[in-house]
Amino acid sequence: MAGELLTVDDALRLIEQHAAPLSPARAPLDQSLGLRLAADAVSDVDSPPHDKAMMDGYAVVADEPQRELRVIDEVLAGGVPTNTVSLGEATRIMTGAPVPVGAAAVVPVELTELINESTVRLTRPAPPAGKHVMRRGEVFARGESILPAGALITAAQLAVLAEIGVATPSVTPAPTVAVLATGDELVEAHEVPAAGQIRNSNGPMLHALVTQAAARLVPLGVARDNADSLTERITAGGAADVLVLSGGVSAGKRDLAPGVLAGLGVEQVFHKVAVKPGKPLWFGVWRRPSGRQTLVFGLPGNPVSGFVCFQLFVRPLLSRLAGGPFGGLPCVDAELAEQVTVKGDRRTFLPAQAAYENGRWAARPVAWRGSADLKGLAAANALLDLPAQEPAYAAGQRVGALLLEPVVGR
Ligand code: AMP
Ligand code: MG
Repeated sequence: MAGELLTVDDALRLIEQHAAPLSPARAPLDQSLGLRLAADAVSDVDSPPHDKAMMDGYAVVADEPQRELRVIDEVLAGGVPTNTVSLGEATRIMTGAPVPVGAAAVVPVELTELINESTVRLTRPAPPAGKHVMRRGEVFARGESILPAGALITAAQLAVLAEIGVATPSVTPAPTVAVLATGDELVEAHEVPAAGQIRNSNGPMLHALVTQAAARLVPLGVARDNADSLTERITAGGAADVLVLSGGVSAGKRDLAPGVLAGLGVEQVFHKVAVKPGKPLWFGVWRRPSGRQTLVFGLPGNPVSGFVCFQLFVRPLLSRLAGGPFGGLPCVDAELAEQVTVKGDRRTFLPAQAAYENGRWAARPVAWRGSADLKGLAAANALLDLPAQEPAYAAGQRVGALLLEPVVGR
């Protein structure tokens, strides 16, 4: 009965209590995508590093009164001007190059005519100081903190880290996640199941979910439903930060995982949550004398249950271990396109199609035959969050819709 089961929120609180960011490490930029900074990133340069030409053209003094100017020098990007610009003079300059001493503005080449190699004519009155020049340090200064600890490193952050000379930022490493499917009935996708067998669909699904969560996958294959096989594979999983088991945690005769975990010294934090699908979820902590710890999830074997439990419970933990918030999928307020009835008294997460149309989110459940229906799940791009208290939802009613992410990988 739901009344005796842990609520989703209570389960999340218990998981969060065990979720501290991993110890920082240095990583080269080309291995930092998707990680988070563990310390502020401070610039060792002014940006721009010099007064910089913003156009190809001629550097001149402010409000140059003359139209015909003597070209005294040329400075390209990467070059350094050597001659001071005085009244009646101009230095040919390219975008990005340092503006010479004496010059205060750049006249774009489009507003000039070259009379000969050493004389240029301005076709309009000369601009005031600052025109087409970016001052040294205008964007940021040396010593300034440019990105805060915790910032997620994507393309723009990588670019600014390169600009400020942080070539090996201090980052929170991606957690390692070992994935172990369990079951005597499982064969692999390329095999033809014999009588009583099914293909291992949770393996590929959980591998993908780990990768999409920007964690590092340690695939452990399949353990059979006996203590020896489980003990051997679970022991291998102890090297990871997180171990995700699929199957073997419900009440069946062959659901041996909780017992084997207990035998290995993994401390149970909770077993069973008032959530549908996903009730048999198991969570525990494996503390070793060395100080190492592995957080262990036993996900229900039914594929949609495992999927929902991963999204709801594993994902926030992985985000926190990686130095981010203890946060799950983005949630939008969506209008139901049709009436929905929920059976039972557990908080329900229903596979749905959500779309942003005419300025608001609308959602409708996909045709779905329960926790083994992967065809239904594959047609969904959202999970409707339906609280336990309300059995019926009218069309037009607003509910939370968790948006399943587009494909991203590391
Ligand atoms: P269990 O939690 O081990 O009792 O499994 C519950 C249901 O999920 C059973 O019908 C299993 O056959 C199925 N199942 C378990 N593991 C997998 C898997 N890796 N891939 C697909 N289905 C599975
Ligand atoms: Mg099983």
